[in-house]
Amino acid sequence: MDDYDLLVVGSANADLVIGVERRPGAGETVLGGDLAVHPGGKGANQAVAAARLGARTALLARVGDDAHGRLLLDAQRAAGVDTAGVLVGGAPTGVALITVDPSGDNSIVVSPGANGRLTPEDVRAAAGLFRASRVVSAQLEIPLETVVEVVRALAPGSRFVLNPSPPRPLPPQVLAACDPLIVNEHEARAVLGASGAGEEPEDWARSLLARGPRSVVVTLGARGALVASAEGMTRVPSVPVTAVDTTGAGDAFTAALAWRLGTGATLAEAAGHAVRVGAAAVMRRGAQESFPTAAEVEAL
Ligand code: ADP
Repeated sequence: MDDYDLLVVGSANADLVIGVERRPGAGETVLGGDLAVHPGGKGANQAVAAARLGARTALLARVGDDAHGRLLLDAQRAAGVDTAGVLVGGAPTGVALITVDPSGDNSIVVSPGANGRLTPEDVRAAAGLFRASRVVSAQLEIPLETVVEVVRALAPGSRFVLNPSPPRPLPPQVLAACDPLIVNEHEARAVLGASGAGEEPEDWARSLLARGPRSVVVTLGARGALVASAEGMTRVPSVPVTAVDTTGAGDAFTAALAWRLGTGATLAEAAGHAVRVGAAAVMRRGAQESFPTAAEVEAL
């Protein structure tokens, strides 16, 4: 179990971004600025974030046999991610079509493409990667049945970290495997549903723990994070920084936390590191472009 600190199983998307004066209404055409293409997707983001920090990282994902897929693979390799687990073909690479207006409000259409074709069979075929990894992290931009298979494929003694984004109801065997389940406020409310009583993060954490995860982390943006397990709850304050763009902050946080857990840190210690990585990530524009190196985190 010692080849990889972290195996990320998840999505890889090309983010196609156009700035517009006004987002178009139904039947309307508007002219925008030049197209910008960025590597993204929560799985790809987490893998890049971990590798940039120095974690030995592998990615299990699927991209299309196309230019976007090559862009994503290049970004992974440039960050030092092992891409042997990235499958190619079956559908076009996932894309997010993003229009952004001058106020920063955006409209997004996601085509999951190849992400939707990452199957349970693909997970079973990657058993070697699971055996070689201390921590496995996943998100929900791939089919839920694939995440269920990830939980089944975990090697004895390895640890599973889940960011349920975009949120949807989770089967009990997935919830029970999470150590931790990492949610922001929106995801906490969505996972808990109408029955999720309470207004405070402590209330959500208590209710989430009751659903079965071994531990829970609630990220609170500029307010840091809350960690919770059977041993108790602790607030982890954030690092005060000037936020330029919070895109990808949650992915950077999750990657840092998952990596540190694999090195033997306690949940509170790992979260203490992750809030520094999250803070560094909001100081620069973009997602993968904004993720810090270990030296940059140290310098904060
Ligand atoms: P998400 O991006 O998933 O919505 P959050 O916004 O909670 O998640 O951000 C994840 C983590 O990034 C936070 O727990 C915090 O550590 C860090 N972070 C986010 N925004 C800021 C900020 N404005 N200042 C400092 N740290 C931040």
